[in-house]
Amino acid sequence: MLCDLKTSSRPVSLYRRGFLAAAGAATAALAAGPVLGQVAVGDASPLRSLVPAREIENAAVQQYGQLLAGARSKGALAPETHPQLVRLRTIAQRLIPHCAQWNDRARQWRWEVNLIGSKNINAFCMPGGKIAFFTGILDQLQLTDDEAAMVMGHEMAHALREHARSRIAKSQGTGIGLSVLSQVLGLGRLGDFAANVGTQLLTLKYSRSDETDADLVGLEIAARAAYNPEASVTLWQKMAKAGGGKGPGFLSTHPSGPDRIVQLQRNVPKVQGLYRQALARR
Ligand SMILES: [Zn+2]
Repeated sequence: MLCDLKTSSRPVSLYRRGFLAAAGAATAALAAGPVLGQVAVGDASPLRSLVPAREIENAAVQQYGQLLAGARSKGALAPETHPQLVRLRTIAQRLIPHCAQWNDRARQWRWEVNLIGSKNINAFCMPGGKIAFFTGILDQLQLTDDEAAMVMGHEMAHALREHARSRIAKSQGTGIGLSVLSQVLGLGRLGDFAANVGTQLLTLKYSRSDETDADLVGLEIAARAAYNPEASVTLWQKMAKAGGGKGPGFLSTHPSGPDRIVQLQRNVPKVQGLYRQALARR
């Protein structure tokens, strides 16, 4: 699926806007965040407003619940004490305080992190903050904590920037027309809608601009949580080695071509200051 809806190239800093709001809230973690070196990304797609965020999040909760139930029935859901799950949850705890500045709704999200036993190299964060990693991505790529944080930051960024919401608005829209879509939604047929989009959430393929957006926003979130920005580059080098654009799961939807790595290399220096300051606070 290609995205022809370009995000604004205006270097709007959502962070700066978010920072002012957060400064008012005086959350310790955010209040300490300096205004420097943040990545420049455009506004989130206006198309997403055609699909109610709450409906997408409800659909995600259902879909996530089904996925976990399926894994549990096969004995593939990691128990609470699994060391890799404990490690992932520790990473999430460090990243989450830096998320709401990208999307106000995230303050109310009930974040969840689970680990599923599977050889697939895969990880995702569904709308509303429902995260899952497959053991394959940790084991086959031998991810360090910094690299795992980059994967998680990237996936969180897809949710925070509501890429699924705009993808679904677009895919529904191409079938029935956007004005009709909003009428349908206004008429209260949201139950059908949730059932319909729920299954799409796990198979969505984002556009290249969504991917770049998630790379950069994720990079900044991870840097603010004191994860080494250089790990974004080594992560994608490992991905490239593991099969580039081929194979199932993450690699098929996340081509790790040279463009991606160059783009990250260019942005690493922009968040180094944030990383160093976050490190000094730890
Ligand atoms: Zn992605």
